[in-house]
Amino acid sequence: MRIDVVSLFPEFIAQCAAFGVVGRAGERGLMSLHGWNPRDHAEGNYRRVDDRPFGGGPGMVMLIDPLRACLRAVREADPRPARVIYMSPQGRPLDQAKVRELAACERLILLCGRYEGVDERLLQAEVDEELSIGDYVLSGGELAAAVVVDAVARLQDGALNDAESAVQDSFEDGLLDCPHYTRPVAHELGVVPEVLMSGNHARIARWRRMQALGRTWLRRPDLIDEAALTPADRALLEA
Ligand code: SAM
Repeated sequence: MRIDVVSLFPEFIAQCAAFGVVGRAGERGLMSLHGWNPRDHAEGNYRRVDDRPFGGGPGMVMLIDPLRACLRAVREADPRPARVIYMSPQGRPLDQAKVRELAACERLILLCGRYEGVDERLLQAEVDEELSIGDYVLSGGELAAAVVVDAVARLQDGALNDAESAVQDSFEDGLLDCPHYTRPVAHELGVVPEVLMSGNHARIARWRRMQALGRTWLRRPDLIDEAALTPADRALLEA
């Protein structure tokens, strides 16, 4: 998979490619990440990328032309079709189902805004969808793009050392994950639940499922309504 990120601060994105699972996905040839700066495609001595908003008001708006030229260069670098996503607080909220969908794409182009955002005409003409990472406003789209890159990288086949771990994560089956414990068994902060050391895989699986159901019910009851629960799950919840 190839992800191109269009940003006034492409170094930010390069950092993301250097560590952990994203770094490993790159080393293993599962994902390549490329940063592009619209300023490199701006004209004039000042290489201007923004201007004041029509109608007045605070802040600046990102200009159409440097972004358009930058997107053209991105497409020329790799002619395969790419979905263009504008990171925006006004977009559809990102969730694990959307991450799975994006992880299956061959190419993505993530467009990061700054200032008051991007001239609406560029968005209308070039962007396929807008994605938000939450109902709050960041100063730029880079952190949001980094969130997408990370979430998508770990779903690439072979990126995680144990592929099972992604399947067991929160949201994958509509529920939150169960709690996890490691050594030591007894600690001044508490003891590991006995069932996890029983070696009885059926009991362990049932305990984990109960924990996942219970936590989701307590912390995110909205997810319970949406999750595909089995009759056994329902019986556990009603017990
Ligand atoms: N004026 C815009 C608005 O109110 O919708 C906010 C602009 S914000 C200061 C600058 C840029 O940060 C946006 O263009 C977008 O790319 C990015 N951004 C801010 N919050 C975001 C969020 N919650 N999710 C994704 N991107 C975000």
